[in-house]
Amino acid sequence: MLHPSKDFRTHTWPWELKYRGHGRPGEYDGLWKINAYTDHLYTNPRQDTCRSQPEFHWTRLRAVGGRTNTWGRACFRHGPLDFKTKSKQGFGEEWPISYEELAPWYGKAERLVGIRGGRDSYFNMPDGVYAGPAHNPRCTELWMKGRAAKIGVPVLPERTAVLSVTDDGRRRLAHDISPMA
Ligand SMILES: Cc1cc2nc3c(=O)[nH]c(=O)nc-3n(C[C@H](O)[C@H](O)[C@H](O)COP(=O)(O)OP(=O)(O)OC[C@H]3O[C@@H](n4cnc5c(N)ncnc54)[C@H](O)[C@@H]3O)c2cc1C
Repeated sequence: MLHPSKDFRTHTWPWELKYRGHGRPGEYDGLWKINAYTDHLYTNPRQDTCRSQPEFHWTRLRAVGGRTNTWGRACFRHGPLDFKTKSKQGFGEEWPISYEELAPWYGKAERLVGIRGGRDSYFNMPDGVYAGPAHNPRCTELWMKGRAAKIGVPVLPERTAVLSVTDDGRRRLAHDISPMA
């Protein structure tokens, strides 16, 4: 069972941890979710392996509730192309359902969770049902957006299950506790 005040080290300063949270040289190389902030939460896929071809890097949490305890709160819908990659793009398998069939269920989940996002109308990244606009970009994101625009690459805000206000009278997640953030 996770204990929020003991098991999430989000507020631990790097200098409070050995090697400033990066571990001994090489200790966490290639394990992007695992460092000194999180190594007590996850099994190490180098030891906890599963036989598969191609090699599958699996993520297992040592806690009741699994990975849902540590997800990053990004809430994107798959787009129409993602359901039909074999016929449209020549790889993978077709899903037995289409985006259009799933869309109302995405909406239902989005209303339940409470998500902020923009109306971006971007190809294969369908807009959802949002409880508020996307969060304001940070300085580095604005900088990136400006640079990317010069080469015609759009930079769009993430759709996130991070609400700073309540809606429909229910308390919402207002503070980020993910150890990955
Ligand atoms: C660091 C991180 C960031 C992520 N960020 C995002 C994000 O921003 N957006 C996003 O969409 N997704 C994100 N994901 C992915 C997302 O968290 C998972 O896809 C999702 O939580 C999976 O939900 P689940 O219910 O299928 O599995 P889990 O939440 O992992 O739950 C599985 C449950 O099954 C239990 N279990 C396992 N084996 C057994 C067994 N043999 N017997 C009984 N019980 C068992 C586990 O203990 C666990 O409680 C992230 C994942 C990680 C790790």
